[in-house]
Amino acid sequence: MTNFNLYLLRTNKKIMKLKFLALLFCVFSISLAMAQENPLRIIMIGAHPDDCDIKGGGTASLFVAMGHKVKFVSVTNGDAGHMEEGGGMLAKRRIAETQEVARRLGVAYDVLDNHDGELLPTLEIRLQIIRKIREWDADIVIAPRPNDYHPDHRYTGVLVQDAAYMVGVPNIAPDTPALEKNPVFLYFQDHFQKPNPFEPHVAVDISAVIDKKIEGMDAHESQFYEWLPWIGGYAEEVPEGKEERKEWLKGKRFGSINAAVRESLEKWYGASRAAQIAYAEAFEVCEYGSQPSEEELKKLFPMLGE
Ligand SMILES: [Zn+2]
Repeated sequence: MTNFNLYLLRTNKKIMKLKFLALLFCVFSISLAMAQENPLRIIMIGAHPDDCDIKGGGTASLFVAMGHKVKFVSVTNGDAGHMEEGGGMLAKRRIAETQEVARRLGVAYDVLDNHDGELLPTLEIRLQIIRKIREWDADIVIAPRPNDYHPDHRYTGVLVQDAAYMVGVPNIAPDTPALEKNPVFLYFQDHFQKPNPFEPHVAVDISAVIDKKIEGMDAHESQFYEWLPWIGGYAEEVPEGKEERKEWLKGKRFGSINAAVRESLEKWYGASRAAQIAYAEAFEVCEYGSQPSEEELKKLFPMLGE
């Protein structure tokens, strides 16, 4: 690429950034004033230090921009996710990556010290999760469904389901006060069909924050540019340059929106707006925890329809 082209690319990016900031300001200024008085508290729980970022980074960025509070939790420390590094040194590197994500997205990011690739739905870890949800005083909890190719994802789904009722039981983990109101629990989107496919009850337009989401994911260098390309057999695709990498990551990770999610977007945003949406994140309401009406879902996800 010539220097002039690089200059144009950078100028273009600066203009896009300004447009994005102006859009955020307009859309969220009213909601921000409301949110600061009584912010929603969202906790996303993934198995690995990058799961929440992949499945919910856009929605998290929208919540943060509206003045709400978001925490990501990784139930394992990520100490198996590399082809050359491992153990405590890798866990340390991955914790540092999560703290960079926290800085870039404006979320809190906790990593629980359980081994990667060896997670089991034990009582001890269930109690860790109950405490995390209580300490965050969560209104919304989002986690994977318990059917997934990766055992750590699967058991994170089970662990959070197992916590859904217990967060309100004072005699369980009595050192951390029980929640007075049961949160709404939701699942991250996945593509698994058995025993039943994911149902996108909520679909969020994240087009305005897709670059922010990529910016967050880009902090996980050990994953998106090293480990995942290696295990996926596409290591030679990874570009060298910092900006080129982010563009590549966006193309690699986010393809088309499926029919079910598109239908949900139409429901929440109307058909004409939905047709314009390029990037979305979807969530399914879990049958455990509070069961929200449609009106309550709109209050819990105030970006819907905006
Ligand atoms: Zn994972």
